[in-house]
Amino acid sequence: MSTSHVIIGDGIAGSSAAESIREADPDADVTVITDEGEALYNRILIKEFAKGKLPEAPISIHEPEWYEERDIDLELNTHVTEVDTDAHEIHTHEGDSYEYDKLLVATGGTPAQLPVDNADADGIHHFWTFQDARNIREHAEETDDAIIVGAGLLGIDLAAICGAQGIDGTFLMRGNRWWRYALSLDGAEIIHDAMRDVGVEPVFESGVDHFEVDDDGHVEAAVDPDGNRYDGDFAGVAIGLDFNTEFLAGSEIETDDGIVVDEYMQTNVEDVYAAGDITQFYDTILDERAQNGAWGSAKEQGSVAGANMVADAEEEEFRWVSTYSITHFDFPFLSFGHPTLGDEDCERKYSDTEWRRLTFKDGKLIGGVLIGDLSQQSKFKKLIREEREVADKKELLLEEDVDIERLEEGAPAQAE
Ligand SMILES: Cc1cc2nc3c(=O)[nH]c(=O)nc-3n(C[C@H](O)[C@H](O)[C@H](O)COP(=O)(O)OP(=O)(O)OC[C@H]3O[C@@H](n4cnc5c(N)ncnc54)[C@H](O)[C@@H]3O)c2cc1C
Repeated sequence: MSTSHVIIGDGIAGSSAAESIREADPDADVTVITDEGEALYNRILIKEFAKGKLPEAPISIHEPEWYEERDIDLELNTHVTEVDTDAHEIHTHEGDSYEYDKLLVATGGTPAQLPVDNADADGIHHFWTFQDARNIREHAEETDDAIIVGAGLLGIDLAAICGAQGIDGTFLMRGNRWWRYALSLDGAEIIHDAMRDVGVEPVFESGVDHFEVDDDGHVEAAVDPDGNRYDGDFAGVAIGLDFNTEFLAGSEIETDDGIVVDEYMQTNVEDVYAAGDITQFYDTILDERAQNGAWGSAKEQGSVAGANMVADAEEEEFRWVSTYSITHFDFPFLSFGHPTLGDEDCERKYSDTEWRRLTFKDGKLIGGVLIGDLSQQSKFKKLIREEREVADKKELLLEEDVDIERLEEGAPAQAE
């Protein structure tokens, strides 16, 4: 009898799992369920669409025919409301049930809303889906003033969209810099200058106390906790994700700001796996639980989960150094590994647009951020994968061209 695999979520994690299941087992029944109205598209590229730089077509990855050709049942516009792990079945908002032998939860997250007055007013955008990008593009093309909230990787996308659409933006940040968990002020200044160049002004030690709306309920300003008022009939809010686990309530599946899985993508409940942004996975490099919010990592987790679901065994292990690049400015930007974690770090500025920061845990390199010059990224990723103890070689690691061989030799070299 064929095995029934049900996958919740048709993002890159769910879709990769479906592909790897089909490749490994031509006879399996595979069903992919998504509450979106379209099949897998490139979530990374929707910002280029919102900027007005790309048409819709290249953003799609899979047409519905892709699923038909592989005999994968794709259910669009279907929201899963409950998982019954005893009965091995799931339930949808329309009252349908699907039985599974193996279940994969790959439901990612939903942008969090600011807990302030008028946070859901007209003209306030959150950014996760292609539909969000269409709404943002349409609105951005007809507005002049925008407010951006959320000093992280998605906030910078909203800032870049404003820049590309010729909108004057005010970027409200809580601390004294953009992405303060991964960058020092020195590194962040490079980004601040690049924002200013495209017409987006960062405002530090700020935030939103409430939004003001006009008589039609449309946003017209943000007021910060000090009472400063910033005009804008467009607001983009990117303050993090709420992970989509609510339909698991009542199941025994362990959640903790996401779904807890081991390195094989198995949850604590037999026959239930999870993959992608939603996982709190066991990171075999860090030797602790971690979370990634990146396309490549989600894709790999989906493939690993799919392989293990078919094998019904711990066949493949997830071991991965994540990367996330930003291409909005005249210089490249890349973060890798876990740049926000660690117990030590070192950094250096090489020019007005070149900077590097590395983070270490227990003497091992675990992540970093490269601005301007990405040429050393594969060396750093290799050192992370190999779990090399190099924290006492910071001076060598900060050289423009890192000589991996020299890391093996000589006395420890310390950065100032
Ligand atoms: C604007 C933007 C730019 C980005 N840029 C980059 C980048 O440059 N580099 C990078 O590495 N990463 C980037 N990312 C992050 C990257 O896109 C994500 O890490 C990746 O898409 C996660 O994939 P996933 O499959 O885990 O989750 P998702 O892509 O979120 O897919 C989950 C799917 O499950 C569906 N779903 C949720 N709950 C249910 C339910 N109950 N029933 C049915 N379906 C459900 C959701 O609607 C969604 O379609 C970006 C993200 C965004 C939004």
